[in-house]
Amino acid sequence: MTRERLYLFDTTLRDGAQTNGVDFTLQDKLAIAAMLDDLGIDYVEGGYPGANLTDTQLFSEDRRLETTFTAFGMTRRPGRSASNDPGLVALLDAKADAICFVAKSWDYHVRVALETTEEENIASIRDSVRAARAKGREVLLDCEHFFDGYKANPAYALACAEAAYQEGARWLVLCDTNGGTLPHEIEAIVGDVVKRIPGDHVGIHAHNDTEQAVANSLAAVRAGARQIQGTLNGLGERCGNANLVSIIPTLKLKPEFSQAFDIGVSDEKLKSLAHVSRTLDEMLNRAPNRHAPYVGQSAFATKAGIHASAILKEPATYEHVAPEAVGNRRKLLVSDQAGKSNVLAELDRIGLIAELATLGIAIEKDDPRIARLLDVAKAREAVGYSYENAQASFELLARQTLGTVPNYFDVVQFDVRVEQRYNALGNKVTVAMAVVKVKIGNEVFISAAEGRGPVNALDVALRKDIAKFAPYIEKVELTDYRVRILNTGTEAVTRVLIEWKDETGQTWTTIGVSENIIDASVQAMTDSIVYKLLKSNAAA
Ligand SMILES: [Zn+2]
Repeated sequence: MTRERLYLFDTTLRDGAQTNGVDFTLQDKLAIAAMLDDLGIDYVEGGYPGANLTDTQLFSEDRRLETTFTAFGMTRRPGRSASNDPGLVALLDAKADAICFVAKSWDYHVRVALETTEEENIASIRDSVRAARAKGREVLLDCEHFFDGYKANPAYALACAEAAYQEGARWLVLCDTNGGTLPHEIEAIVGDVVKRIPGDHVGIHAHNDTEQAVANSLAAVRAGARQIQGTLNGLGERCGNANLVSIIPTLKLKPEFSQAFDIGVSDEKLKSLAHVSRTLDEMLNRAPNRHAPYVGQSAFATKAGIHASAILKEPATYEHVAPEAVGNRRKLLVSDQAGKSNVLAELDRIGLIAELATLGIAIEKDDPRIARLLDVAKAREAVGYSYENAQASFELLARQTLGTVPNYFDVVQFDVRVEQRYNALGNKVTVAMAVVKVKIGNEVFISAAEGRGPVNALDVALRKDIAKFAPYIEKVELTDYRVRILNTGTEAVTRVLIEWKDETGQTWTTIGVSENIIDASVQAMTDSIVYKLLKSNAAA
């Protein structure tokens, strides 16, 4: 069976850049475009040349990408000629392979927002598409508010798309600009449109305001559309755009789509998807969504003990696709509900069982050390520890219980002081100073340090004490710090989760629990350093 080609259009750098708090630099945009290009995305929309300096710079040079690098902009303004509209002229001069025009396709918007006639709006679409074609550009038309427009006046919405098609636009992209259309409506309306315009010229641009942007995109494909527009991680204003990170594996791994369509993303590149998703979060300095479908850390995490034994025997019993296909991995959670098979599976995953085997120590399910580890983990969880999201701390606990962690150092005492005062300039400042005493073997080290806050000051002082390990840990940095207060009232305990990153980009999370937030932080910090030393095979 020959498969039809389905095209992917990424607008992370244009529509995604509308997200609250997202501000891409030129370097960010170039890096993301290169990443999308490598992934096999057919179209990368870079931005809106002329609208801001970054986008103007982005389109001032040839970018030499495999993908069809696309500039976005408006059709000519009403009442002007194409050559007499500076915005359009700038767009036509942009160094882009394709131009994606946005135009109104809802008669109500034409009258109220554009304050022009329906005829003039269509003339503007025709003139703009013709001008871009004359420049040798591939042309797309984003039909803004298409679905709302179609419901109000189907003839006019279609006339806008058809005008562009007749002038040689490659794609007519039907936009659910307000994001309120539902999948069955999308399917019906796209079904109507492809009776007039061939489906292999029709695209879908869905927003996630009813959390159905992915479903809407797939509904459009079922009805005949052959281009999907979306963004990485569903970035976009309000509730975001259709999430390509969910759409791509669905198209690749679900038979209904994979047997009918080819996309530009190869099986091999699909395996980089989790990495691509996390890289974008990294650039935006956001903690990745653990529950993101396919690529989230919890997407293949199973909790109950009975499931874990089944998964080990036959993964397909509890997984809808193989996690490796998208570059993710199976994770078995250690929790209060966990049975021995979970613990054993987790020990296996972190390589501990293989490692012990090389030392001639075989661990079996009924090994008393497993029972002991389970008891320790349960006792810890009872007082507030949660190892599900702190696997580095769990690994340390496991290795300590099994007796395979060198004694690198002991924190024997610490003191931290936070002071608010006026500095010499008369500004109110808050400063933190810490003193940490550490024992390494029989030697005692005491260091003091200032920091941006108490945790930072402790971190700096501790690292001074254990300077002998500096080569292993100097590049380790704290990337995320989360605090939760458990229980309420006077019995409250504080749980601190800290995420760390080293020079190779490897990340890990450690946990500390205490009635005191500083104490909890020191526990997590100590775990992190020991974990890193262990992973680096540092000698004690
Ligand atoms: Zn949009």
